[in-house]
Amino acid sequence: MSRIRTKTIDGKPHTRVAYTASCTGCFEGGDYMGLAHNYPYDAKAQCYVGMGCQECGYSGKRRHVFWMSLEDLEASRERE
Ligand SMILES: [Zn+2]
Repeated sequence: MSRIRTKTIDGKPHTRVAYTASCTGCFEGGDYMGLAHNYPYDAKAQCYVGMGCQECGYSGKRRHVFWMSLEDLEASRERE
């Protein structure tokens, strides 16, 4: 399985979270994603792909990377 990368921020262990999502600059899902069917769906990235704009380099999707504390990560999993 994938290796979990962690580092300590403010004395707490954090893990690197990365995901791909539709570009907010060129994807308009509308209320309750009612317009999402107008866009192609990328099954690998698990997001819809926008029309392409300067913001995303005309790929229609953006890679998001951030560090989340393990406490917050556990909390978010419990809510699901
Ligand atoms: Zn874009």
